[in-house]
Amino acid sequence: MQIQNSIAERWKNIGKSIFSEMSALAQQHNAINLGQGFPDFSGPQEILHSISNQLVHCHNQYSPPQGESLLRVQVAKFIENLAGVTYDPNSEVTITHGATEALFSSVTALVNQGDKVLLFEPAFDLYYQAIANAGGTVVPFSLKAPDISLGSWTLDWSKFEAVCASGIKLAIFNSPHNPTGKVFTEDEILRIASIFAKHGIIAICDEVYENLVYEPFKHFSLSNVAKIRPLVIRISSAGKTFGFTGLRTGWVCAPANITEHIRIVHQATVFCLNPYTQLGLAEILSQTDWLTSYLSSQRKLYQLKRDFLTTTLEKSGYLVSKTEGTFFITANYKNLGGDISDIIYTKQLLITKKIATIPLSSFYQKSPNNFNWVRFAFCKKDETLIAASKLL
Ligand code: GLN
Repeated sequence: MQIQNSIAERWKNIGKSIFSEMSALAQQHNAINLGQGFPDFSGPQEILHSISNQLVHCHNQYSPPQGESLLRVQVAKFIENLAGVTYDPNSEVTITHGATEALFSSVTALVNQGDKVLLFEPAFDLYYQAIANAGGTVVPFSLKAPDISLGSWTLDWSKFEAVCASGIKLAIFNSPHNPTGKVFTEDEILRIASIFAKHGIIAICDEVYENLVYEPFKHFSLSNVAKIRPLVIRISSAGKTFGFTGLRTGWVCAPANITEHIRIVHQATVFCLNPYTQLGLAEILSQTDWLTSYLSSQRKLYQLKRDFLTTTLEKSGYLVSKTEGTFFITANYKNLGGDISDIIYTKQLLITKKIATIPLSSFYQKSPNNFNWVRFAFCKKDETLIAASKLL
């Protein structure tokens, strides 16, 4: 009997995550990990205390699939205070297993076989995987890399309008943007909103870095624009908000009719999350004074780390794009590495300098020619960044 045990067709072209792969290689080579975007230090102790207290005292049975009501209420308040957008905690907020699951459930709930889905490249790998699983077709739209040092990534508007007019059903839009560190301006968002509204394009907005935006930039969301609001799905997470990626707790806010669809996929995949993390986070989000001061000091801390790594990279000969938000800096090595591909360059950097990074081509469906960009994560201890600067 021949056993048919190959991976399902729709997953065939999907490899292992470049982020975990680089982290594993970093460990294997005893290298400094500036690849995967997670802090190498603990998040706030207050969160650990709230969650452990809940672990001991809460009901510890299934939560409602849509999430603990106390957390949904606090998430709605948090978004209202932060961004001035109102969501009904009962019918428009769902708690998910991190932003990853929120994205996956949203794409799975809305994309049919053959639907065209627009991605802003470079784009996070999970987007491609979720779309492939749903049978959708990726329509890539490339952001333009800055030509000179200290520019940020830009959009070619006429190309963008044309691509949006080509029968796109849904777009995944990410601002602050991973990997480029670009924070789309209010003007850009308003323009994108008008184009999406004109063509009835649903927007899944990955806003996990909304609280990691550096002076003088401001986060503005498509969910702030009334005319597109019925088409916007807004995703964020506790992991990125608190620099605590192990929390695996995210949220997806969307109009009630879309939320109903997302909840169907969510309950069929993860069903529900553990109650103690949710209840601990609800307690933390209700402490608004603490929250405001924590988020502001976190921003300042990361801004200093960004400045330090930017200067280090510039001194080492990289052309560095302007990071306005997120944990990431994109750096061009054309003056350092000759003609080699970014995959080879990152492997060399790992072996010769003992520094792990992410090749930017892994954020593309089809990597551009002569592409010399890599991503560095600066969400690391000062000691880690100083050690990296010596090696660079
Ligand atoms: N968002 C993280 C990054 O870009 C990685 C998350 C993951 O590994 N799935 O580095």
